[in-house]
Amino acid sequence: MNVEPKIQAKLLELAAVDAELSRIAHRRKNLPEQQEVDRLDAERTSRKDDAVAVEIAIDDLDRDIRKLEGEVDAVRQREERDRSMLASGSVGAKQLSELQHELGTLERRQGVLEDELLEVMERREASEADHQHAGAQLSRIEEELAETQRRRDEAVADLDVAHQRCTTDRATLGAELPGDLLALYERQHDKQGIGAALLQARRCGACRIELDRGEIARIAATPAETVLRCPECSAILVRTKESGL
Ligand SMILES: [Zn+2]
Repeated sequence: MNVEPKIQAKLLELAAVDAELSRIAHRRKNLPEQQEVDRLDAERTSRKDDAVAVEIAIDDLDRDIRKLEGEVDAVRQREERDRSMLASGSVGAKQLSELQHELGTLERRQGVLEDELLEVMERREASEADHQHAGAQLSRIEEELAETQRRRDEAVADLDVAHQRCTTDRATLGAELPGDLLALYERQHDKQGIGAALLQARRCGACRIELDRGEIARIAATPAETVLRCPECSAILVRTKESGL
């Protein structure tokens, strides 16, 4: 294939645009902002789970408190009934002794229930503090997540702009190249990632392999219009003034 050297040199611009496009694609796939969003999102889920677990624990404690309060009330009512019976003076000696015995039992029971109630209320207070702490942490993470999502969206928008610019440049350059040369470039680009490269300091710019003297001598003797391929990686080898031939 014969193509004017000036046109062949445009392949280097096209290769630079393609290299930029793959940098953009790589950056898009590995956005640190996206990784941070994923991490914060997972943390938010875990904090939410923590908060829900504390809420369930508080509900259980509230149920225990209501139950104990009910029991304390029942014992108190019974005590009051016994005391008013004693105060009425209308009970016989046997019933008197029974009532006194029962009052003793009820007082002990009251003491036990009140201690239990106090303990459960203390646990509820501790859980309430846990809940507030979990809530504060959740809000902090949600704020951080929103801020990181905003930065991620900005980074993606920047990449979109860069990608669009490269696509336009690519179309412009493509229109300036002969169809068969462009097709050869595209095939090589799809296969090896780099379609064309500069020959410089005896190295192919695509595979970086140094060509031997015999090869260099053969290339130097080949007319400038001839489209050359790298003997190692098959990239289109572009010769310019910088090639040092
Ligand atoms: Zn090569």
